[in-house]
Amino acid sequence: MSAPGERGLVPERDWDVLVIGAGPGGSATAGLLAQGGHSVLVLEREHFPRFHIGESLLPAGLGVLARLGVEPCPETFVPKRGARFVCEATGRSQAFSFDEALDGCSRSAWHVERARFDTLLRDRARAHGATVVHGVNVDAAAAEADGVWVEAAGRRYRGRFLVDASGQSRLCARLGGTAEPYHRFGSSAVFTHYEGLSDEAMAELGPDFDIRIVVRSDGWGWVIPLTGKRLSVGLVSAGRATQTMLEEGLLAGPLVSGLTRGARRLDTHVVANYSYRNARPVAPRFAAVGDAACFLDPVFSSGVTLALRAAESVADCVGPALDQGREGDPELLLAHGESMERAYLTFAALIDRFYNTQIAQTLFLGNVEGMPGRPGVMSVLAGDVWRSDNPFQEMLLGAKRRPARAKP
Ligand SMILES: Cc1cc2nc3c(=O)[nH]c(=O)nc-3n(C[C@H](O)[C@H](O)[C@H](O)COP(=O)(O)OP(=O)(O)OC[C@H]3O[C@@H](n4cnc5c(N)ncnc54)[C@H](O)[C@@H]3O)c2cc1C
Repeated sequence: MSAPGERGLVPERDWDVLVIGAGPGGSATAGLLAQGGHSVLVLEREHFPRFHIGESLLPAGLGVLARLGVEPCPETFVPKRGARFVCEATGRSQAFSFDEALDGCSRSAWHVERARFDTLLRDRARAHGATVVHGVNVDAAAAEADGVWVEAAGRRYRGRFLVDASGQSRLCARLGGTAEPYHRFGSSAVFTHYEGLSDEAMAELGPDFDIRIVVRSDGWGWVIPLTGKRLSVGLVSAGRATQTMLEEGLLAGPLVSGLTRGARRLDTHVVANYSYRNARPVAPRFAAVGDAACFLDPVFSSGVTLALRAAESVADCVGPALDQGREGDPELLLAHGESMERAYLTFAALIDRFYNTQIAQTLFLGNVEGMPGRPGVMSVLAGDVWRSDNPFQEMLLGAKRRPARAKP
């Protein structure tokens, strides 16, 4: 007999919304739309809990979690004060706290183990009434004039609106040939977890539990404290990241070797990490959210937060439109698309500078305590990129050099 959540039990019906993927983008969109009384079917190819990278959240996503009723329990959430940039070659380091950001943004954030976090978000989506089915790989999808459909293993599901939240699989961008690469960012990552951190290591990481961003000549590294005395450590390279590069570089350096003394190293993963954008993230009856819309090099930990904010923005447009029968309106998501584009461009411009200018040494590792523009920098680092009063963000957006994208 099939267990709840298996494909055999998906009711035969037309849905208001079909969602591909139950990562943060998919589960948040589904939960918010279901909260508004809409029927939502989420099809997810993996069974949860499953490993996923992307463990450090920004303050700007916390409001979405609150709307979904997510309780930041200590089994899953480590409080994060901000980010500390570190250069082991020069011994320089500088911490940025979210407390320093411009007024109006949340001042704290979290690190999460994604296997638990994604399961929790999935459970919130279900609690609000969404149907989430695992073990279903969607192979085809389309938004047509009078409705939408997806196909998985020969079965067709129908609805009124389609959300692609398939992450880096970017199903609809691949089907439509609309993915455009960003150049000159990181292109691959290698990472691992440690468990059984010593009390000394925990004391060194806390009480602030900042993410450590290690600026290196072969790329950059992250050090993220997780619950249960675990540590996530990874390296992103502009070339091909290898296990040897991780082991002989970041893991052997004083920061990680000190923190992990006596701890047990778990599996190592290598992933391609090419940044891209979907040139058609919205269309009539369709929206891509999260990495299915745009994936940016993770140096500023923006991915989950942007996925959550896109989910919220889509749900807030599509929910009322479904009530009024306007979900096919070609203009429905134009403002949403522009607002997300502003966020993506802001982070892309900052990432471009991180890789291709001296900004890491001057701004993130230089002595800029008390610098007048620092709150604006901090607001961008907090993901608070939908405001119009931040000169640092305007500088990023206004700058002429935008060489990163393949096509203008
Ligand atoms: C090395 C690295 C480090 C990162 N670090 C951070 C970080 O510190 N902080 C941060 O915020 N972000 C980070 N990110 C980015 C973050 O992982 C993503 O931005 C985030 O997971 C996006 O959420 P999502 O819901 O769009 O996609 P995902 O979380 O990838 O979810 C997509 C889901 O869709 C499912 N799916 C895919 N295709 C199909 C299909 N055809 N049918 C059915 N289901 C499908 C997948 O199984 C998956 O569960 C990092 C990324 C990388 C590569």
